[in-house]
Amino acid sequence: MVQQPAVSTSTPISQRTTAIYVTALLVIASLSIASHLLTNAIIQRQAATAGTVNMAGRQRMLSQRVFRIALQMADGSADFVQARIELIDAAAQMEREREQLLHGSVSPRILAPASPRLKTIYFDGPESLEKMGTQFLNHAKHLAATPRKDVTLQNAEIAEIGVLQRQKLLPGLEAAVAAYQKDSEEAIEHLRNTMLVMLLLMLLLLLSEALFLYRPLFQKLKLSYSGLITAARTDPLTGSLNRRAFLEDCSNLFLRSKRSGASTCMLALDLDHFKSINDTWGHATGDRVILEFVAAVLGCLRSYDRMGRLGGEEFSILLPNTVPETALSIAEAIRSAAAQTPVTTETGEQIYFSVSIGVAVAMPGDGDIFAVLARADRNLYAAKERGRNRVASI
Ligand code: GH3
Ligand code: MG
Ligand code: MG
Repeated sequence: MVQQPAVSTSTPISQRTTAIYVTALLVIASLSIASHLLTNAIIQRQAATAGTVNMAGRQRMLSQRVFRIALQMADGSADFVQARIELIDAAAQMEREREQLLHGSVSPRILAPASPRLKTIYFDGPESLEKMGTQFLNHAKHLAATPRKDVTLQNAEIAEIGVLQRQKLLPGLEAAVAAYQKDSEEAIEHLRNTMLVMLLLMLLLLLSEALFLYRPLFQKLKLSYSGLITAARTDPLTGSLNRRAFLEDCSNLFLRSKRSGASTCMLALDLDHFKSINDTWGHATGDRVILEFVAAVLGCLRSYDRMGRLGGEEFSILLPNTVPETALSIAEAIRSAAAQTPVTTETGEQIYFSVSIGVAVAMPGDGDIFAVLARADRNLYAAKERGRNRVASI
């Protein structure tokens, strides 16, 4: 019995697959955005480091300047009034920038992300950088307010300014810059590692999508596609080729055998009095007769023969590489097998049916398969006219 072809009707892309696909895309998009934000954070962090290191460097430079001007005021190597203005100016600038560095709300500021290491250097203990800086600036301010006659090299303020500058501010600021740089390097390293993890995640996700989503999806699509092609080419009742697919295959095989010079034959088959089988036993029994007939025919054919259902109870068979004598004996085998095939009716009775067959051989002058088919049809009608249940070749 010829089975009906199994054609999958389920859609290849299920809602679940779509949901997984969309989720994976969203995750990749989120990771890309996060990666972009991280890159920005790294750039900002590097810019902030550069700004802060630069400002801390300026603090050192300004403290040196304050001390130098103080010495010039004391040793008389510069105009006193002018030097005092410069001292006030340098101290004010140092104080402004120091305020920005320590307590500013915008970058550069030393404690951008609060770091315990930097906090210790700046604020902890009696000799914290903040205290030393305040003392330094207080001494500078006092000196600026000191009468000219008291500003000598023995002045205690100048000595304090010198000591604070060389022994506290310079090493303190140096340590702060080093600590800030170290903090930044660690933070950037952390951001870089996070980015690397995200990149790996993205690659992993893409790989998983390719392996577990795209591959099965394509396999499913391929299967569905071949299922659709099969369905489009197959007669749903018998599983034989339908008219279109049969004629397509026949045309190709006909042209091929024409080129090679091989003999090709064609059979036209039509069940006898099929209408009366339907009328007597019902349509379902008629279907069963068609199915039993196809099974009987397939038992007589070779693997390379092609059979198609042209419509209703009419079939056609192409016999490639077949001489007319063989075609006649195949047709006779089919006729005989059909006539001996019992079919059980709906009511449980056994009935028999017969088939008439017209045989034709392809001639060198045949332009296409339809010419051969037409001759086979003519011979089929001849078989009908001669009484049915027979094979005719002229
Ligand atoms: P003949 O011997 O001259 O071929 O007579 P016939 O009765 O076989 O030919 P006719 O063309 O008069 O009748 C064919 C019938 O086949 C008519 C149609 O209802 C029936 N038929 C066509 N397709 C199917 C089918 O798929 N199943 C069934 N059960 N009947 C079908
Ligand atoms: Mg018929
Ligand atoms: Mg018919």
